[in-house]
Amino acid sequence: MKLICIGRNYAAHIDELKNERPEEPIVFIKPDSSILPKEQDFYIPEFSNDIHYEVEVLIKIKKVGKHIAKEFAYTYYDEVGLGIDFTARDLQSKLKAKGLPWEKAKGFDGAAVVGKWMPKNKYENTDNMEFSLLRNGQNVQIGNTSLMLWKIDELISYVSTYFMLKKGDILFTGTPAGVGKVSPNDYLSGTLEGETMFEINVK
Ligand code: ZN
Repeated sequence: MKLICIGRNYAAHIDELKNERPEEPIVFIKPDSSILPKEQDFYIPEFSNDIHYEVEVLIKIKKVGKHIAKEFAYTYYDEVGLGIDFTARDLQSKLKAKGLPWEKAKGFDGAAVVGKWMPKNKYENTDNMEFSLLRNGQNVQIGNTSLMLWKIDELISYVSTYFMLKKGDILFTGTPAGVGKVSPNDYLSGTLEGETMFEINVK
């Protein structure tokens, strides 16, 4: 399976990193080996001094599809979740400056937190879900899927024109503003519509 990730999907996050607003979704892939095993602590890798958390709403793809029309995208998922796209920001900045691929900064072991899954019909409207990340009990990121530049169904349609989606693939839908650095002994937790979806200790 693969993790398909969207960059720069919330205007306020684009501004905080002083990035340009993209004309199309920015897409990258994390390998399945980047998933942090359940119940395992996140270890800051030795190659970075600036690991950032990015909380993101996740979509689990339930069947094979390519060239999926936006109108049918909702039939490709039944479950939503919440996770973290950990990013070695220092390494990413270096690679970006040279025009090189980001994979090392985004796809390292443990760089993808996948929390628990919820049936999508638990929520009235997946395009209006509030989510947040707490660092040591303090809210550091608060987002709402209504603020996505490209909504879930548009993203599924868009990415499926490049990558065949397969059952079990996970879509990371982008992070809102408030990204920041993690430090050893941090405790991170994420909520979706008020419910805790994951808890992570940083080492
Ligand atoms: Zn991200």
